[in-house]
Amino acid sequence: VFDVLIVGGGPAGAASAIYAARKGINTGVLAERFGGQVLDTLAIENFVSVKETDGPKFAVALEQHVKEYEVDVMNTQRAVKLVPGRIAEVHTATGAVLKAKTVILSTGARWREINVPGEKEYRNHGVAYCPHCDGPLFKGKRVAVIGGGNSGVEAAIDLAGIVQHVTLIEFGAELRADAVLQRKLRSLPNVTVILSAQTTEIHGDGKKVNGLSYKDRNTNELHRVELEGVFVQIGLVPNTEWLKGTVALSKHGEIEIDAKGQTSVPGVFAAGDVTTVPYKQIVIAVGAGATAALSAFDHLIRSGDD
Ligand code: FAD
Repeated sequence: VFDVLIVGGGPAGAASAIYAARKGINTGVLAERFGGQVLDTLAIENFVSVKETDGPKFAVALEQHVKEYEVDVMNTQRAVKLVPGRIAEVHTATGAVLKAKTVILSTGARWREINVPGEKEYRNHGVAYCPHCDGPLFKGKRVAVIGGGNSGVEAAIDLAGIVQHVTLIEFGAELRADAVLQRKLRSLPNVTVILSAQTTEIHGDGKKVNGLSYKDRNTNELHRVELEGVFVQIGLVPNTEWLKGTVALSKHGEIEIDAKGQTSVPGVFAAGDVTTVPYKQIVIAVGAGATAALSAFDHLIRSGDD
């Protein structure tokens, strides 16, 4: 029986593991992919005290730091069920059942898909989600960015410096990004912004993307844009499908937590992008992971179970 079982091995889970293990309690980490989203990230320039690093390097550093301590790291294992209780159970996809006195949920988030024909077929063949990772592949080509929130507008600004032309497609009647980003976007000569546009299909030649169709939501007219790449930037989905019915989730599917990282279930804590925390960033996930671990420890000493 673990004192603390952490589900998720991104920055939040890694921080929880380090903080728990430093209390000398029996700590385990179950992760589908240790490192989490940072594995898909290129430059990281905002992790305070580290001027510049990259995602894969950061992920290795996380793992090395965790392995400094006696932590049972179970990588490439997916949790499929949580059974709360005085001793909680976490069931894995392979049928294993792990038992723990406290659980920290840190399963993070993933890119939201647009769900139109062509998206799945051309994923990694012109359909991309990570401008930092895949932007350079479209050097000199034409791309679209779907989504006019902060991430979409940031992506468009970023890509405009690499590609020949960017078409930004927003479903609503106006962009939702911060004004400063919108100003920057509109100052760029090789960006076209299309509002009130619903993407209906991503086209290709069987091998790679060659166009995108959208419906003008004011006139219902269909239009086609010729291009080589589509970046989908319509937000993140929390990885909580496996938790429905156990811990309270927000309407966006995020785990509801209080300031201590406590969920609606006693002994179950959560941290990072999977929660209702307002900003999804590494430094924030790391702080939340530490909070959740300290709260789990507090719970253990108060319940007399440690
Ligand atoms: P994640 O990193 O998502 O980790 C979740 C972990 O849970 C993973 O190990 C995953 O495999 C595991 N998991 C998921 N479901 C299960 C399951 N059912 N069972 C077991 N394990 C599971 N932030 C910055 O601060 N600076 C940046 O420059 C920056 N750039 C970014 C660029 C990109 C392209 C992306 C995608 C994100 C970027 N972010 C950046 C955001 C940052 O990566 C996240 O905020 C951070 O990784 C969140 O950490 P987390 O531990 O909460 O979740």
